[in-house]
Amino acid sequence: MLIDFHTHSTASDGALTPQELLARAQARGVSLLAITDHDTVAGYRQALAVCQQFPTVSLLSGVELSCRWSGTTIHVVGLGMDCDHRAMREALSVLNAARIKRGTTIGSRLASRGFSGALEGALAEAGSSQLGRPHFAAWMVKEGHVKDHQTAFHKYLGQGKPGDVKAFWPELAEVVQWIVAAGGTAVLAHPLKYKYTRMKLRRLIIDFAAAGGTAVEVLSGRQTPEQVTQLQRLADEFELLASAGSDFHRDGPYNPELGVELRRLDSRAALWQRWLPAAEGA
Ligand code: MN
Ligand code: MN
Ligand code: MN
Repeated sequence: MLIDFHTHSTASDGALTPQELLARAQARGVSLLAITDHDTVAGYRQALAVCQQFPTVSLLSGVELSCRWSGTTIHVVGLGMDCDHRAMREALSVLNAARIKRGTTIGSRLASRGFSGALEGALAEAGSSQLGRPHFAAWMVKEGHVKDHQTAFHKYLGQGKPGDVKAFWPELAEVVQWIVAAGGTAVLAHPLKYKYTRMKLRRLIIDFAAAGGTAVEVLSGRQTPEQVTQLQRLADEFELLASAGSDFHRDGPYNPELGVELRRLDSRAALWQRWLPAAEGA
């Protein structure tokens, strides 16, 4: 059985529209899908409006929120929350303001290196999507400042480069509490992607659980069986539920496909059990 609790649409940095994502989910046999765009629920809302056309897919509300923890950026996925709840509206407006402020800082840092008009260019690239570094990269490629996306990140936007601005996100605990207040489940996204030491990862999970977080992404698209086992042990140790999500953004030779096979996991405490009856009844 395939489900997916971590996916992106064109409302953030994904390549497929919400409707195309639903169509892909149906074609791949994904029975339970959450669209978890970065700091916006616009993609989920669009999908909700057309999901009757895809009767084999159960749609769950979702979002991937950025936050700060111990000086680094962490991603928390919210699932099943009421998108109209006051706490969720507050979360999205705080994060949107942070994203614009961050974009302004990236723009002025690039301007001081001779690339003027970066913010305006990136906003134009973003259109109705959430502004992010990929939009700055796209603008730099289009203007001929760099030869490709990868070079833009390598020289100007990636980790430790001028465009690597992360100071404006709210704190982890605040973001988790917004999700919980809106009736949702907070999931620690891709725990191994932060490249922490084992000790630091444990500290993160302790703080996440103390803030009200209830699940950890144990299954994701590109993990080895050993990594899945490692994460399952951590989840069990801290009595957190296991979640599963591909983090699908677009098709590509090294990219995970949409949908995660639940047979890969032997879990006693799986988050998707909460929503499975709905999926099976569909
Ligand atoms: Mn992304
Ligand atoms: Mn992420
Ligand atoms: Mn993601």
